[in-house]
Amino acid sequence: MDNSTILKQLKLLASLMELHDENTFKIRGYQNAIFQLDKMDVNLAAMSLAELESLQGVGKGIAATIQELAQTGTSEALQNLLEATPEGIVELLDMKGIGPKKIKVLWKELGIESGHELKEAANSGLVAKLKGFGEKTQQTIIEALEFKEANANKLHYADAEVIANELVEHLNGMKNVEKATITGGLRRKLEVAESLEILVASSDFNALEEELGALEPFEQLVEESGPLVWRGTFKKHRIPVELMLCDPAHFVREQLLKTGSQRHISIPVANDMSLRDMAYTGNFDSEEKIYEALNMAYVAPELREGTFEIERAKSNSLPRLVEMEDLKGILHNHSTYSDGKHSLRQMAEYCKELGYEYLGICDHSKSAFYANGLNEERVALQHQEIDELNKELAPFKIFKGIESDILNDGSLDYADDVLASFDFIVASVHSVLNMNKQRATQRLLRAIENPYTTILGHPTGRLLLRRAGYPIDHKAVIDHCAKHNVVIEINANPWRLDLDWRWVNYALEQGVKLAINPDAHAMEGYHHMQYGLLIGRKGGLTAEMTLNAMSRDAIEKHFSEKKEQVANA
Ligand SMILES: [Zn+2]
Ligand SMILES: [Zn+2]
Repeated sequence: MDNSTILKQLKLLASLMELHDENTFKIRGYQNAIFQLDKMDVNLAAMSLAELESLQGVGKGIAATIQELAQTGTSEALQNLLEATPEGIVELLDMKGIGPKKIKVLWKELGIESGHELKEAANSGLVAKLKGFGEKTQQTIIEALEFKEANANKLHYADAEVIANELVEHLNGMKNVEKATITGGLRRKLEVAESLEILVASSDFNALEEELGALEPFEQLVEESGPLVWRGTFKKHRIPVELMLCDPAHFVREQLLKTGSQRHISIPVANDMSLRDMAYTGNFDSEEKIYEALNMAYVAPELREGTFEIERAKSNSLPRLVEMEDLKGILHNHSTYSDGKHSLRQMAEYCKELGYEYLGICDHSKSAFYANGLNEERVALQHQEIDELNKELAPFKIFKGIESDILNDGSLDYADDVLASFDFIVASVHSVLNMNKQRATQRLLRAIENPYTTILGHPTGRLLLRRAGYPIDHKAVIDHCAKHNVVIEINANPWRLDLDWRWVNYALEQGVKLAINPDAHAMEGYHHMQYGLLIGRKGGLTAEMTLNAMSRDAIEKHFSEKKEQVANA
């Protein structure tokens, strides 16, 4: 069992203990242990009881629970609590913004046992009348339930891609499948997948359906299926699966039609003919040939949204999309100085090993007390260590950055002389995420105006499928970044992917550069770069407009020019 599964189970156990009014000290003990373990670079499942007990925050009891979880997949205490709790209540425990204490009141006082019942009670105003709730909490509950409903059974891209690849591999191994490939929103690299759409070529649909029916990992939804589409689920994943069956001779045509958005395939391109029309004129042996037949440039799948790409493909002026090899450094990363898992040295050495020229370290700033943010003395200490490492690792270079919290009024949380000691500054919002659009935008605009701000971090704070971002006026924010020479981050964490790709092209048109930042909190986090890259490409991002596609010397120059601006401000 991996660490994250063990931690998930521990969290559930702590929530259930709270729900069932167990000893407060015991609950605090668990919460503290989870907080500590989350930051540790250890393999819990491989540790002995004595080793577990020696970990910070882990006593005898918790160590035994961890071992039980690692060995059996559950624990007796957890099983007992689960048996004493309705399933619907367990599900409500992971709802954002409402803790186990309140869930307990809802359960015991209103007899609520499911999300559905809770929604009814909230909509009829019963929840607001409970002691300690009120209108605001009731509204929070309604919004959280609606968000949860709207996102049920969806996956973010990184997870969906893994399952889809597994599914395609499985299909390609079947007797009656000639070829299978990913299409739909997943092939267009959309940030969230609602279903997995797979195109399957077969010369015998009946035999294929029979073969699918006999396979254990597949479960068909017969009523939702048709003669040319098989709908159902794949294994334990709850995401819907659509297998679109086609004759092998029509594979390329169907691949094109099932990949592009409706707009992309139906916009008239030449002589009133759309891509769809052209696809039906004959049997093409590649998608490239269909574009070619319309006298337009080939459009990469991720661009096929029907926005700017058709016009530009016609005039042969599509952007040359940024590629992994273009990226020369990794900015915005954390170390053990704040809430990262690996030391500054480990983060630097691994970055160098991956072939990058530089690393930007951006630990949390002093207001981020929850993340062990750096006060002024620890900033100085870190800078000393960076100077030493830079001597040792040259020509590789660590740039001194910080992820400075944007406070409620839009100011950054260090005095100017401290801000001036960094090479660059990522300014991000981490607190009071419930501002309205006008205030949230105003707050960002002020942070952008700050002459020390180099990069605006994760602009909306959204966590895909978990919580909506705070609402902002994207246009105003991007325009302001253009005016003040501030770069916008594409946070590459699969849960964020923020700046949203829908705003990438507008930012580029205003001359705003973007930085693909993994926001890594451990060495493995660097591998999230690929998702940020996809989202950038989806918006039309080129190497020229990517901050971290700059060489070490060029970015050093960019940082110092930005700092000169401060002197002239
Ligand atoms: Zn952040
Ligand atoms: Zn960060």
